[in-house]
Amino acid sequence: MSELTLSRLADRIDAKRDDLIQLTRDLIRIPTTNPPGEHYEDCARYLGERLAARHFDVRYVRAEGAIGDSDRYPRANVIGRWSGDASGPTVHFNSHIDVVDPGIGWQHDPFAAEVVGDRIYGRGACDMKGGLAASVIAVETLIELAPTLAGNLEISGTADEESGGYGGVAYLSERGFFSRPRVDHVIIPEPLNKDRVCLGHRGVWWAEIETRGRIAHGSMPFLGDCAVRHMGAVVAAFEAELFPLLAGKRTAMPVVPEGAKQSTLNINSLHGGQNDGLPSPLVPDSCRMIIDRRFLIEESLDEVKSEVRDLLERLKTTREAFNYELRDLFEVIPTLTDENAPVVTSVANAITRVLDRPPEFVVSPGTYDQKHIDRIGRLHDCIAYGPGILDLAHQVDEYVGIEDMLDSAKVMALSAWELITGERLAG
Ligand SMILES: [Zn+2]
Repeated sequence: MSELTLSRLADRIDAKRDDLIQLTRDLIRIPTTNPPGEHYEDCARYLGERLAARHFDVRYVRAEGAIGDSDRYPRANVIGRWSGDASGPTVHFNSHIDVVDPGIGWQHDPFAAEVVGDRIYGRGACDMKGGLAASVIAVETLIELAPTLAGNLEISGTADEESGGYGGVAYLSERGFFSRPRVDHVIIPEPLNKDRVCLGHRGVWWAEIETRGRIAHGSMPFLGDCAVRHMGAVVAAFEAELFPLLAGKRTAMPVVPEGAKQSTLNINSLHGGQNDGLPSPLVPDSCRMIIDRRFLIEESLDEVKSEVRDLLERLKTTREAFNYELRDLFEVIPTLTDENAPVVTSVANAITRVLDRPPEFVVSPGTYDQKHIDRIGRLHDCIAYGPGILDLAHQVDEYVGIEDMLDSAKVMALSAWELITGERLAG
């Protein structure tokens, strides 16, 4: 066999264009909507059978007891491992198989995977079955062209990323699937655009604020105490104090898009009183707000929480009968991989060579499964890199570009080869 070169690798990937399209379409057509977590087993099995046919050692792991796991909706995961002729480093490509609800208003059937020109449409096309398919093609091509590699290649399809990853990467991380010595380098093909290396993500704090009042007849509200008006004071204080404070906090993390380079807070929901049918005339005695605070690596979680708690405590002193409860719902610490980590430099070099331009280093505004690999697996050589336009994720008429998938498959194959061999592939 003639020596492997980048042009041979690229040509072989281009020759698999039809296979890549078919694989992407097959994956999209399995409607793995989460919640509730439909058809995970079908999708895991489809991927596992393909990899087993190519001499991968395939394991299926159901996250028994994880949030959402049930016999009706098993949290199914699949991990395929290919081992080369000799021992060496392991490069792992991890993709989540779940997709969010398609919502309404699509021009294309969200689960038909229609091909129009260079695009494949469907829920999950971009986030992230297109990335999964590209990584499968990348790894299969590498194995065909370099069957004597001294190292291992893994591909996983995991559950529940969209709902926190507890039945997927978190569960597997707790069982050593994302730790050394099993794995050395992880690439997560999330849709961050084919010329970007994503180093990590901001932090998250979700909390519920409840204001309390006193119930009374709605015709005599002066005899009660309206919890919604108390919450109105909270919103007013957010507007006057908290939002300006957050807008002034800027990060050195290269977060995209630009607006996410500051701390942000979304009021996720706000609800007070009865809201079914024709209500009884009542003064509401409870009002609840859920906040979604995204924070920067320069901020501590304690500081983030105390900003809100201090604001609520101040309202206690300025507003008669103001009473609240603050409950934590969910939290994630920011993650940032070193720019000099091997997986970063190797993918960056591969982007430069395949696309003929330097990569952009970015940080994701939202979180993804890298947090579990970092915190639980204690593996820090992990990034997100994959095809697909970030802004299309979770939108109607989501699509992935076929050329983008081919390009990113070349980047993935080249960087995996270089990470395993420690050498530079000839042109
Ligand atoms: Zn995703």
